[in-house]
Amino acid sequence: MSRPNNIQVSPHFRLYEFEDRAFDHVVVLHPLLLERLELLHSALAEKLEHQVAICITRGSVTVRSNNQLGKILGWIGEGGIVSRNSRHLTKFGGIAADLYTIDQETGLMVPTGTVADEARPLFDVVLDHYPTHIHVDLRDSAKPNTEVRAVSEARP
Ligand SMILES: [Zn+2]
Repeated sequence: MSRPNNIQVSPHFRLYEFEDRAFDHVVVLHPLLLERLELLHSALAEKLEHQVAICITRGSVTVRSNNQLGKILGWIGEGGIVSRNSRHLTKFGGIAADLYTIDQETGLMVPTGTVADEARPLFDVVLDHYPTHIHVDLRDSAKPNTEVRAVSEARP
């Protein structure tokens, strides 16, 4: 294993893609987020009729890492753009991702509006006002009680 978290966790994603990029490779990944990202991958490939790659630019974020970013980019409410209560924080259970998509046949980035349109039915919140990526999260669907219910229903 050449680096930490170099583990295939679904057909199109490896665990390290979701880790905190600044400190210690900490990663929290909710299984429902992974499931929905695979569905997004299928939806985009079908819509564009091309092979696509979804690139995760931000997954799990530790408090330490978020504080560092807040100091650099400023906090929301104080003229900045970083949320003190970012859904990327590990305490929320690995329910958020920032991502962009590459059309693998043209090599070009798929417009964020196109990605957001396909993402909207799959996630609770989709933010597409950023130029380089969209934000998706499952702040309602991935609550712990929801997960427990889904697991017990799946058992015979
Ligand atoms: Zn985000």
